[in-house]
Amino acid sequence: MNIILFGPPGAGKGTQGDFLAKNFNLIKISTGDLLRREIKKKSSLGNEIKSTIDKGMFVSDKVVNDLINDVVLEKKNFNKMIFDGYPRNIFQAEFLDSMIKKNNQNISCVLNINVDQDVIIKRILGRQICSNCGNIFNKFYNPANSEKHRCDIKYLKTRSDDTEDTIKKRYKTYEKITFPIIKYYQDQNLLFNVNGMAKITEINKEISGFIKRL
Ligand code: AMP
Repeated sequence: MNIILFGPPGAGKGTQGDFLAKNFNLIKISTGDLLRREIKKKSSLGNEIKSTIDKGMFVSDKVVNDLINDVVLEKKNFNKMIFDGYPRNIFQAEFLDSMIKKNNQNISCVLNINVDQDVIIKRILGRQICSNCGNIFNKFYNPANSEKHRCDIKYLKTRSDDTEDTIKKRYKTYEKITFPIIKYYQDQNLLFNVNGMAKITEINKEISGFIKRL
């Protein structure tokens, strides 16, 4: 089974992707994470990617599609992928379809996580990622207390593109360029709407229900 997690920045795609990966033995593929890994290498491509991301703009389709191409071709990912943050435009959606089909797989469903813009801003401004274990927390909604998180507090980091200005830009781009590809998946009967305003555990339950029925 291959799943696409769809929704605006801050909808909780990463959090739900981690949950699905753990509970359904799947592998989360986040293009944002793949790009941030490239940035860490401090290569010239990495530096270019950082400056694009920090401006709240999309990285080029060529760069992102090449990364996805490699991931889809990896044997261990066969029919086990959860796409988080990809596709983000119609060209990427068509590219993913062709890649997946060429490799004798299909997309099982697209989970569209709906969240209002004001909540998104608060979620992104509160977002903290542990640089040691990779878990995602939120200062306001899901704090990293001792019950949930064992690593030292010094590992909790915020993302350099999580500023109010950049969030607004990213949200506008989502509305204009990413949101319209919903129709592409609706026409293929693959789209399921999820209430992303609910509590994390309630969203976990809702999406688990969808996946179990597939
Ligand atoms: P995310 O971690 O999904 O919030 O992505 C962080 C940033 O990485 C985005 O704001 C974009 O600049 C870039 N990015 C991630 N995924 C894509 C994509 N599919 N296409 C273009 N840029 C992307």
